[in-house]
Amino acid sequence: MKQSREMPEGLGRRQFLKVSAGSTLAAAMAATAATPAAAAISGRTNRPAELPAAKGPRCVVVGGGASGLTIAKYLKKENPRFDVVMVEPNSTYMSCFLSNLWLDELINLETLQHSFCDAARAGNYVWLQGKLIDLDRQAKRAFTSEGYIDYKYIVLAPGIDYNYAAIGIKDPELEVVCAQNYPAAFKPGSEHISLKAKLANFERGVFLSTVPTGNYRCLPGPYERACLIGDYFKKNKIKGKIVLLDPNEKPFAPKAPGFLAAFSELYKDVIEYHPSTMVKSVDPIKKTVTTDFDTLKFDDASIYPRVRAAKLIEDLGLHDPKSPQMEADIDVYKYFAKGDKTCYVTGDCRPMGFSKSANTANSEGHYVAKLIAAQEAGKDIDWVSPQTICYSTVNGTPEEAIVVKAKYDQKTFGFTDVQLDNTRSAALGKAAHEWGAGLYRDMF
Ligand SMILES: Cc1cc2nc3c(=O)[nH]c(=O)nc-3n(C[C@H](O)[C@H](O)[C@H](O)COP(=O)(O)OP(=O)(O)OC[C@H]3O[C@@H](n4cnc5c(N)ncnc54)[C@H](O)[C@@H]3O)c2cc1C
Repeated sequence: MKQSREMPEGLGRRQFLKVSAGSTLAAAMAATAATPAAAAISGRTNRPAELPAAKGPRCVVVGGGASGLTIAKYLKKENPRFDVVMVEPNSTYMSCFLSNLWLDELINLETLQHSFCDAARAGNYVWLQGKLIDLDRQAKRAFTSEGYIDYKYIVLAPGIDYNYAAIGIKDPELEVVCAQNYPAAFKPGSEHISLKAKLANFERGVFLSTVPTGNYRCLPGPYERACLIGDYFKKNKIKGKIVLLDPNEKPFAPKAPGFLAAFSELYKDVIEYHPSTMVKSVDPIKKTVTTDFDTLKFDDASIYPRVRAAKLIEDLGLHDPKSPQMEADIDVYKYFAKGDKTCYVTGDCRPMGFSKSANTANSEGHYVAKLIAAQEAGKDIDWVSPQTICYSTVNGTPEEAIVVKAKYDQKTFGFTDVQLDNTRSAALGKAAHEWGAGLYRDMF
């Protein structure tokens, strides 16, 4: 498809701004068009991205996480004529899943890190290292930090952002202090590296950890993390305890017996678990957290605020304003933005109550790739449930895990076909590694 350096063909500047009304780029251009800085920004995004000419229907995939990587690869497998471009700003993929094992030194960093070059080469698609900034869905043009791309289909899989206001942090300055000093480490990359360094430097006292409300990323993640930090403290003879504040009555329901057994049998003196405890506010400067019961002091922390769909989804006007987590307003079976079968939203910013997990995003990605290929062929396919497979390593010495596997009911989207093993075992500990290796193979 030919790409020009001007506005979308047949669309004047006035009209273009109207089409993109409410969107970030349009607003920035309108507000600051006269300043040299604005000219530089719009000049960069407003020229074609330097890409090979499209050799077939162009599919742009935004985000190189579990969702985007799977969809980019499988779109090409479903229809080799698709010209797939994945837009992802990070230089290296680092998985969130298995990262708790790395905190406890059960795996090395190389296990978590993978190359987007390798993924794109093996999948026969193009990786554009950049960021989606705006979208003109009428003209089917995606504006990235590296220039614009005209598309036939676009998939948005940008993951999550945090909502600090939900834990009482409304001042942007305090939000930055909290995010930088006590990162949640539920988004890939720097946050995890920072948490690992915190553990290495922790000598004694209270290490605070929190569970958010709502449908947060990796429902068992905070409990698994408490166990593995507990194991790390024990192994390294650190005189500290993990205080885990949880708004729920018990840990993530299916696995509650497995986690509670680990807390009481393995970490009695190391994990202080506070169920039914809501975080009302955090003072990251005084290092205190106020709950609905009292105010606690901490020495160090990893504070996990409420999760929301990536702000990009709201910026592009693709969110459901009624959704408490600002998730996407899409057809819940076919994943396209309401009224637009060329634009899909997947992964952790979907509105369905599926577990926000990598296996869910990966299995969903297979289905969405088939859906788009069917759309291109003028066909329709039946809904396929995503699958959640979630191992939680609750002991590091020796390595032992518990597991839940489930699909989703087509009407309620609640768990169905559940397979659960809450008895921690070394066999499940080993299976967790095999599951992770299989997922990397499938995404890369
Ligand atoms: C500690 C931890 C443990 C976990 N354990 C498990 C587990 O055991 N099992 C399991 O199944 N899941 C687990 N998960 C959850 C899993 O990692 C996530 O649910 C999964 O990664 C979601 O995939 P995603 O593609 O939706 O989002 P992400 O993986 O976050 O990917 C989103 C990508 O979009 C990119 N992006 C954002 N904005 C833009 C933009 N404007 N332009 C271009 N790109 C953009 C980001 O850079 C990012 O790479 C765990 C998560 C954590 C944090």
